[in-house]
Amino acid sequence: MPAQNPRSMAPFLLIIALTFVSVAGYMAFRWFTTDGNRTRNVIAWLRDPSAHPEWVVKAGQQCGEAPFTMPTDGYVGFLWGDSFRPGHHHQGLDIFGGGGLNQTPVIAAYPGYLTRLPEWKSSLIIRIPEDPLNPGQQVWTYYTHMADSDGNSYILPEYPPGTSEVFVEAGTLLGYQGNFSGDPNNPVGIHLHFSIVKDDGQGKFLNELEIQNTLDPSPYLGLLLNADQNRDQIPVCFDD
Ligand SMILES: [Zn+2]
Repeated sequence: MPAQNPRSMAPFLLIIALTFVSVAGYMAFRWFTTDGNRTRNVIAWLRDPSAHPEWVVKAGQQCGEAPFTMPTDGYVGFLWGDSFRPGHHHQGLDIFGGGGLNQTPVIAAYPGYLTRLPEWKSSLIIRIPEDPLNPGQQVWTYYTHMADSDGNSYILPEYPPGTSEVFVEAGTLLGYQGNFSGDPNNPVGIHLHFSIVKDDGQGKFLNELEIQNTLDPSPYLGLLLNADQNRDQIPVCFDD
């Protein structure tokens, strides 16, 4: 093969550079617009929840024909697909109760079989043998941040670490919202993180930390919870 003339490469390199700059610019724009609007609202909410009663969803509330009920009270501040840093996509919902630690109840959104792994301080997962929106498939609901910053759990004592396959009805009290992050010096704002996790096809849940292992919760809860489709609306029931 003949050697490339360096001068003939210049336009291609320029195109590659321009493409890179525009893609990076677009990603930064997406990141700032998605995160910026919602971050601003979350800060406003946490400062004074009573100023925004119209932002609130209620535990046990069912939106229209949606199969799941809301797992806790509060403002749904971050959505499925929100990006907290470039390259990251949020795998669930963050519902900020607006109260203090260990105050806002968390309930089961749908009946299923509760498991809490031995090392889980703030989390539990509920197996739903029959996904109401994908009959024949098993799916999982994951609830986390139910502990304080030091890892003192707010999950009910009925569900200690090591709990396996305990049946709970929809509406069963599971615990209370907390701010556990794994780093005592850097707790999260008090909220519940709730996500819908896919099954691996062998009866086990996939890694919740990867968004591709989770499902868009919008049709399950009847709210516009997909960050790509909801840029700036406060998520409340579709038919409100
Ligand atoms: Zn979250």
